[in-house]
Amino acid sequence: MGKKILLSGVKPTGRVHIGNYFGAMKQFVDFQDDYESRIMIADYHALTTVQDASVLKQDILDLVASYLAIGLDPNRVIIFQQSAVAEHLELAWIFNCLTTMPYLARAHAYKDALAKNKEVNVGVFTYPLLMAADILIYDPDVVPVGQDQKQHVEIARDVAEKFNRLFGEAFKLPEPFIPEDVKTVTGLDGQKMSKSYGNTIPLFANEKDLKRLVMTIVTDSKGETEPKNPEECHVFALHKLFSQVDLPELKRRYVEGKIGYRESKEILAHNMNQYLKPMREKYESLLSRPEEIKTVLAAGSERAQVIARAKLERVRELVGVKL
Ligand code: AMP
Repeated sequence: MGKKILLSGVKPTGRVHIGNYFGAMKQFVDFQDDYESRIMIADYHALTTVQDASVLKQDILDLVASYLAIGLDPNRVIIFQQSAVAEHLELAWIFNCLTTMPYLARAHAYKDALAKNKEVNVGVFTYPLLMAADILIYDPDVVPVGQDQKQHVEIARDVAEKFNRLFGEAFKLPEPFIPEDVKTVTGLDGQKMSKSYGNTIPLFANEKDLKRLVMTIVTDSKGETEPKNPEECHVFALHKLFSQVDLPELKRRYVEGKIGYRESKEILAHNMNQYLKPMREKYESLLSRPEEIKTVLAAGSERAQVIARAKLERVRELVGVKL
């Protein structure tokens, strides 16, 4: 039996942060030997919010460099650009025609945008259907994502079921993969780490910026000798990701009132830097070779297109537009 298939992606909307890494991207690397993986640069999704060509171009290159720097191997994994595979859009149109407005109006991302009085473009509204197409066109078994994307994978499953029922079996129903301990990585203010909240720690921040950002993590006002509950501390939440070896000792010092927040943050900044430095160096070196990045992306996109084209042929036949 062949390997199971994995599909996921990230939007090129600014520098990736440690929430993206632990919530999703690290799983791409951990699973690259066990699954046949297809990892996307979701640039048409980014277009719902980015309206500056030079920014988007650079963000696309940065994201490919990020994928390579964290250890994705383009010989084992298809790294591709969503916009280079136009079949996604064609399939998304077919899904538009299967889905009702009230159903899509229940999507969290759309409701959040409305609640914040943002001007909601049609792309934001139909985003889940383009994402359903991104996923379903590659027949994945598993889609590793953070908790905030769980609903989108569920929408993809609903759409797949509806299509299969109406037109005949075409799509596999994918499962989201969301590890419990990293389903929502918190940011500097204790909310979900998110570019739109301005509370992120960029994955490739330099040592000085890492330290500066870590020192701004919000804590309560307990003094150095007061006992503290590590489970309520946003600094400790990040120690769980970066300070594995020191964790029992840190926990003991928190509970016994033997560590202040300043020292805890200093230890965290040090451990983060140790952890991230090798990836950061690789990232910086890759960014100085944009042609190499473009070559990787073009080769991956070509491979993705072959798969997507075959799937769409079958779909066109099933819906009745292929004569
Ligand atoms: P994006 O492309 O920005 O939507 O995010 C890429 C991936 O990172 C998605 O799978 C998200 O669910 C995941 N992600 C983003 N922020 C976090 C976070 N704070 N904690 C865990 N996963 C996250």
